[in-house]
Amino acid sequence: MAKEELECSFCGRKKPETNLLIAGLDAHICDRCIEQAHGIVLEESKQSDSSDLSAELKLRKPQQIKNFLDEYIIGQNVTKKVMSVAVYNHYKRLLQPVTNDDIEIQKSNIMMVGQTGTGKTLMAKTIAKMLNVPLAIVDATVLTEAGYVGEDVESILTRLLQAADYNLEKAEKGIVFIDEIDKIARKSDNPSITRDVSGEGVQQALLKLLEGTVVNVPPKGGRKHPDQKFIEVNTENILFIAGGAFDGIDRVISKRLNMQAVGYSASISEDVVDQDHLLQYIIPKDLKDFGLIPEIIGRLPVLTYMDPLDAETLRAILTQPKNAIIKQYKKLFTMDDIEFSITDGALDFIVNKAIEYKLGARGLRSLCEEILTDAMFELPSSKEKTLNVTKAYAEEKLTKTTLKKLKAVS
Ligand code: ADP
Repeated sequence: MAKEELECSFCGRKKPETNLLIAGLDAHICDRCIEQAHGIVLEESKQSDSSDLSAELKLRKPQQIKNFLDEYIIGQNVTKKVMSVAVYNHYKRLLQPVTNDDIEIQKSNIMMVGQTGTGKTLMAKTIAKMLNVPLAIVDATVLTEAGYVGEDVESILTRLLQAADYNLEKAEKGIVFIDEIDKIARKSDNPSITRDVSGEGVQQALLKLLEGTVVNVPPKGGRKHPDQKFIEVNTENILFIAGGAFDGIDRVISKRLNMQAVGYSASISEDVVDQDHLLQYIIPKDLKDFGLIPEIIGRLPVLTYMDPLDAETLRAILTQPKNAIIKQYKKLFTMDDIEFSITDGALDFIVNKAIEYKLGARGLRSLCEEILTDAMFELPSSKEKTLNVTKAYAEEKLTKTTLKKLKAVS
């Protein structure tokens, strides 16, 4: 057969009519047919994505969601339970069949209140990992009203699109974690005071995202300008999780509890109030008194709190989660055939230093890094094939200066 007569076995175009003709065993395919076939593959996989979600939900009831969270997060049982139900309901809502019974399941956006380093981001990350949906983590402090220096609220959705590799359908079912939401609280109790750039205006701008709307999003981020192309993102099915430390909110809670106790002498005063863990009594009104506008609070209807981390929890964080810090070091050393172990005494020592220097869970990693850096530098090229970290070893590596340095950066 003459070369010119080669043709695409799918569309019949002759070789000269194509840009590219690829040969298979007994057939050829042209560039156009490849593109078309690729489109079909994408379309098919999109469809199976949504059925993935329903399969996922059949498999994962709230109890199973909590079990998954348990593998990665220590403690925080109240929040885990509340989150499991909220997430389950959220994705049930996505799958709700269109009926005409006028019952529309509302969004279950979540508000998490708790000190920094107690696992709020980890919670959002773990949920996204479990559901295999894209996650955008944004810091509310960089958001400003349109027209001011800083990022527009829409930039949140740019991040989500990026996390979803610009797959719009995936992004629209994703999760957004807004950190430090407390930092956009109104600073003053007087709402008529001159506009505060990073406060109420941002809360207003966030409102429409939270409740579900179609937003024009600049795909590459940055400021909107007239000749930029936009992607329309519908936030209707995006799950928003907000988190914040709300420093000082315990005083708001305590004041309210005391007033209640005085006003209705009975009820609450009979229950012993746990003064050290006041967050557990938080109600939406406290957020309002802190400076969030009622509409925002209403759009984040699931309110939950994180417990502060005590020594026992910190100790468990070091060793127990699926990807616990100590397990990671063990793996790193194993790759060099080094048998790594650490004594209980050394673990307690690390935890105590994290508490003494107020380094929190985040500090655990830096402490381990300081203790192990020398070994990680020397052992791979030495004959020594075991490393047992004792309290004395850890003490030797963690000098006062190192600890002060860690405190300064935390
Ligand atoms: P937050 O968002 O509340 O400031 P993060 O989720 O960023 O806190 O947590 C900080 C670090 O501490 C992370 O590395 C996380 O893995 C670890 N951590 C915090 N709380 C827990 C927990 N309850 N279980 C396991 N790890 C935790």
